[in-house]
Amino acid sequence: MIKKVILTHTKSLKHWVGNGFHVHGLLRPSGEINNIISPFIMMDYASPKEFLKSDIPKGVGKHPHRGFETVTFAYQGEVQHRDSSGGGGTIKPGDVQWMTAGSGIVHDEFHSESFSSKGGLFEMVQLWVNLPKKYKMTSPKYQSIKKSDIPNINLTDEIDMRLIAGEYLNQSGPAATFTKINIMDFHGEKKSTVSLSLEENTNTILLVLSGSVKIEGQFYRDKSVIIFDQIGTNLNLETSDNFKALLLNGEPINEPVVSYGPFVMNTKQEIEEAISDYQNGKMGNLL
Ligand code: MN
Repeated sequence: MIKKVILTHTKSLKHWVGNGFHVHGLLRPSGEINNIISPFIMMDYASPKEFLKSDIPKGVGKHPHRGFETVTFAYQGEVQHRDSSGGGGTIKPGDVQWMTAGSGIVHDEFHSESFSSKGGLFEMVQLWVNLPKKYKMTSPKYQSIKKSDIPNINLTDEIDMRLIAGEYLNQSGPAATFTKINIMDFHGEKKSTVSLSLEENTNTILLVLSGSVKIEGQFYRDKSVIIFDQIGTNLNLETSDNFKALLLNGEPINEPVVSYGPFVMNTKQEIEEAISDYQNGKMGNLL
């Protein structure tokens, strides 16, 4: 049975996150969609943008997170990060950084020094993945997933899919996740038709980064968010030339979502605790 499209929107406008990320806010937590996008919470797409060379790397200075995971996908350009647990590194094109904020982390995210010293095209996605209540206070950690760790599956002659998390056609994505999640990164230079089969009763979101797609006769252009019904298993996508999209699929976490800035918890009281724990230095600090 075909999964029906239940909600779509397109975000042409961009806004700045710090001075390094010029993003389309494709997903935002809201009472109206939390249940149909769970376990996903938020997604920003920094579509390709030319940055001039700069002596000072551009980005977002130190800030905390608690209660969820931030996943950064680099397409063009490089991001350098440091966190309060002593971790850090550079995310290069094709790499994915999967950071579990859990009980709390303080980090910063900037264009890498090497990228800033030359300038160039920058393109990135940041996704927030929720944690179930029982893992919200898990210890912070991050997985540095290199391009070479991600299986590339030829779905058709024209379309490749990088499997970042989950299982598909007897292949496994490298990301370790707390709930059942599939993340697929599609690329196709020439138009094609792709049929996918997903599990019943899961949430599914297609984010069209570039190109366009036709689904059940309906046309969706770039920067569209397409949310599917939990009922049904199959998707048929007619993709355009230069198609690029991310498919997010996962078992919903059926728990309340209370989000406030960089914190995503289950209750208002837990948000207040997060604010005071951060202010009291309990999430650590950056040197
Ligand atoms: Mn952050």
